[in-house]
Amino acid sequence: MKLYNTLTRKKEEFVPLRENKVTMYSCGPTVYNYFHIGNARPFIIFDTLRRFLRYRGYDVTFVQNFTDIDDKLINKAREEGTTVPEIAERYIREYFVDAEGLGIEKADIHPRATENIPEIIEFIKILIDKGYAYEVDGDVYFSPRKFEEYGKLSHYNIEELEAGARIGVDERKKDAMDFALWKAQKPGEPAWDSPWGPGRPGWHIECSVMANKYLGDTIDIHSGGVDLIFPHHENEIAQSEAATGKPFARYWLHNAFLNIDNQKMSKSLGNFFTVREAAQHYDYEVIRFFMLSAHYRSPINYSAEQLEQAGNALERLYECKRNLEFLLKSAENSADSAENLDKLTVYKNKFIEAMDDDLNTADAISAIFELVREINVQIANGNKDKSFLEGALSLFNELTGVLGIVRKSEDTLEAEVEKLIEERQQARKAKNYKLADEIRDKLKEMGIELQDTPNGVKWKKI
Ligand code: AMP
Ligand code: ZN
Repeated sequence: MKLYNTLTRKKEEFVPLRENKVTMYSCGPTVYNYFHIGNARPFIIFDTLRRFLRYRGYDVTFVQNFTDIDDKLINKAREEGTTVPEIAERYIREYFVDAEGLGIEKADIHPRATENIPEIIEFIKILIDKGYAYEVDGDVYFSPRKFEEYGKLSHYNIEELEAGARIGVDERKKDAMDFALWKAQKPGEPAWDSPWGPGRPGWHIECSVMANKYLGDTIDIHSGGVDLIFPHHENEIAQSEAATGKPFARYWLHNAFLNIDNQKMSKSLGNFFTVREAAQHYDYEVIRFFMLSAHYRSPINYSAEQLEQAGNALERLYECKRNLEFLLKSAENSADSAENLDKLTVYKNKFIEAMDDDLNTADAISAIFELVREINVQIANGNKDKSFLEGALSLFNELTGVLGIVRKSEDTLEAEVEKLIEERQQARKAKNYKLADEIRDKLKEMGIELQDTPNGVKWKKI
């Protein structure tokens, strides 16, 4: 597989450090609000990369953090008259609701900054001992100037950075470019004890520490949106490589922006829609499909028209799946269908080729549509052979599964309903009627009505 590496500005053959094991770290959300459609882009893209690597036989360990302490969380807690942990808990919970809707699988580990404070303190101590960082009045700063390769990811040189950093200089810093590893407590702010007095970690240090703790000194893939290249990822490299003396990440992947009216969607500009809002108008899955219909390094524009187009395209895929499932109910084996099935492998190869080329999901989707066209032609020509239909459906599911789309089917609905009914029975047995009622309500939201009969629980669609 080839991946475009921001570090070398080249598409490179992807070769993991340890044979078939891949370590991936992706910068996760700052949990002070629901996440917006722009934030959803990296989450969906790198979930897809992880799925594809797994499909290609790699054993992937994926870490995505939650930034659960920073100014935005502190301000939000103040506004609401509540605590930072309460805000973080709430939006982490809500993250998982939207992520599940979007088909984003849970990472293997979702570490939080506040759960790694001792490790962060130890890491900062190392940077001070090695002469890369210094303390002033309870703050600790890192000196990029001490790290010779500073700028290697963003391809800025130190003079350009110096010029940019002069604005709004904090007098206590030795150099305008220096950035905070540890921030001394201000009145009313949450704080942890440290050798430099009470305070909290800066943003960049948490990722260096958690990537190192969970994945080791050198990781294979590090990713996020392009806005993270500088300063966040540049600073992560400086901190990590200064501390360990080893390369931090081997492949740096960055998705382009999702724009609205040709401007980056962002919370600070106020031009955003949360995923939760959008999911009221379009199915979660339509949002995922829309995101994958462009290459991740091309900017995309969010508009009602684009989403509707995505919805229509996705519906055509569902039609194919339903058609195959329907025909299979009465299909029988006829003459040898191996030849017709063989024809379909062309599309599988096209799909893999597209994904191998720097995760070209746009072309991969085109390959799926070509597959659908071929299946439709076969069916229109009267091919109702059972093994052909089975093979076609299985390939269709295999490829759409790698992209995490066309996930719903009658079967999965049934399995999900049965599971919830079982959970409700268990809750009733344990006399947890509150939970039992909640499950009944959840089923109702899914359009399922329960009937308790002497022969057990029956359900029907309403
Ligand atoms: P944040 O919660 O702001 O730290 O962002 C979480 C992730 O979303 C990061 O990888 C950002 O680079 C990414 N991101 C933020 N806004 C956009 C956008 N408009 N388009 C694409 N990615 C974005
Ligand atoms: Zn990060």
